[in-house]
This record gives sequence, C-alpha cells and structure tokens, in this order.
Amino acid sequence: MFGYVGIEAVLDQLKIKAMKTGFEFNIMVVGRSGLGKSTMVNTLFKSKVWKSSPVNKLGPLPQTLQLQSVTHTIEEKGVKLKLTVTDTPGFGDQINNDKCWDPILNYINDQYERYLQEEVLITRQHHIPDTRVHICVYFVPPTGHCLRPLDIEFLKRLCRVVNVVPVIARADSLTLEEREAFRWQIQEDLKNNGIFVYPQKCFDEDTNDKTLNDKIREKIPFAVVGADREHMVNGKCVLGRKTKWGIIEVENMAHCEFPLLRDLLIRSHMQDLKDITHNVHYENYRVHRLNESHL
Ligand code: GDP
Ligand code: MG
Repeated sequence: MFGYVGIEAVLDQLKIKAMKTGFEFNIMVVGRSGLGKSTMVNTLFKSKVWKSSPVNKLGPLPQTLQLQSVTHTIEEKGVKLKLTVTDTPGFGDQINNDKCWDPILNYINDQYERYLQEEVLITRQHHIPDTRVHICVYFVPPTGHCLRPLDIEFLKRLCRVVNVVPVIARADSLTLEEREAFRWQIQEDLKNNGIFVYPQKCFDEDTNDKTLNDKIREKIPFAVVGADREHMVNGKCVLGRKTKWGIIEVENMAHCEFPLLRDLLIRSHMQDLKDITHNVHYENYRVHRLNESHL
C-alpha cells in the first residue's frame, strides 16, 4: 500500500547515537573466598576481547578485603565501552554467616539509589552516570554434590534485585562427567528453590530469543576456569593455567566454558542485561522507594 518510506534510516541514526554516547556496563563477581573471583576479573580483562587494553600492571592477587571496582574503557571500530568489574570479598568464612549478603545487597541498592537521586532532580543531567550492577556472576564451589544452604539463601536474595548468572568455579577440579552431573543438580536446586537466574524465560521477547536463550539455559551454570597468565601453546600465546599435566586454556571450549560466559556478558546479551536492569530491577526499586516516601 505504501511506497518506500526509508524508515530503516533510523537504524543508522541509532548507531551513530550509540557510538557517540558509548556504553557503560557493570559486572559484579560474588561467591565464597578462594573460588577464583579476583582471577576471573583479570581473565575477563585479559581475554581476547580486549587484548589491546592496558592491563599488564596486574601482579599477584592479594585476598580481597573490600568491595573494589576496576574500570577500563575499550574502543573497537569506533564503539566505546566503559566496562567496570566490581570484585567483592569472599563470604562464608565466619562461624556465623548470618547476613553475610548484606554488604553486597547494600552496594547494589546504593547504586539504584544514586541513579534515583539523579533522576528525581528538577534539572536532570542529560546523561546520568550508570553505576548500577547489570549482572552478578555468582561462583558456586565445585563440590560436585548440590547447592549448599548458604548459596541457596544468598542466591534467593540476589535474584530478587539483580540479574544473576551462576558459574561452577574452578571447574578444572571436576571431570567432564562430574561437571555435567553437577550442572544438572544445580539446575534442579535452582528450580526447586524458586531461584530465577538470567536469562529468565519470562523475559524472552520472541521465538528467536527463546531458541537462543534455551540453549544458554541448558548450559547454565557454565563450568569456568580463570587464569591471568599467558603461555605459549603451539607457537600461540594463550591465557591459561600451567599444571603438571599440561596447560588448561581458558579460551578453549574443549577445556572449559569461560568463552560462553564472556560471550554472554560482552557479545550477545549486554544490551538485554542493561534493559532488564533498568526496566525490571531498577523499576522495582524505584516504585518501592517512591511508595515509601509518599506514606
Ligand atoms: P577469590 O578469593 O575468589 O578472589 O579467589 P582468587 O582469585 O584470589 O583465587 C584463589 C586461588 O585460586 C589463587 O591461587 C588462584 O590462582 C586460584 N584459582 C583461581 N581460579 C582458578 C581456577 O579456575 N582453577 C584453579 N585450579 N585455581 C584457580
Ligand atoms: Mg578475591
């Protein structure tokens, strides 16, 4: 009925706008101490996606004693990404672990509050700096049995306020069969405890989303290995862990599923994670806070 209108030109406009503004993306790592969280922060920064970024200053890792964020700005083909990873101290070391989730939940809520305070100003900034956590990577210890009560309690609380993707930490300590069995067990535990991790079925927008996300859901929790050293393998420099039996290459899918985690975070689902953070988690916070202040 209509002739050619040329509305697809809006795509170019969106692209130009996105390139001008750039992207801000915030990841948080959470889990007990010693599971490789700090190592994974370095693995993410050193992995192929941003080989060119200046992260060579990293030394041996001290134990993480407080929440700390590292930010790098990465530019690729004119697209700017400001990536922040927030590392958290391990929990679960105390005799009484009651409320060990409080500092983490407080941090997540504080970032929503900061955003809200900017948003309600009469003269709002054109661009509100976004420090909200878009995804929380939760490290499950590689016990091979089932989720422990502390992890269940923590995950229940986290999933209500933020996107969560669980991973099996230090997966090199499990055989391939053990990884599969453990993954299946964790999926059951999540289901039985009403814990909804990312990507949630109810947010699939169409059948394409569903097909792609169903594949991801089958693989969650990803069995990951972290490393911050490079080694030569067949003349190529690879990120990996050197063991007595050989090198475990973190970017090799035959060795572990770190590439699935990295692709989900940085390549395939970044915008979706930002949208759900804004439209669902932040919105819940905003409604709750505004109701509270109008009582
Ligand atoms: P965090 O307490 O969770 O931050 O753990 P760290 O990143 O400080 O790591 C604790 C120890 O585990 C260090 O000696 C790391 O080299 C080691 N480590 C980290 N990731 C892995 C992994 O995937 N596999 C194995 N076997 N060891 C790891
Ligand atoms: Mg640490």
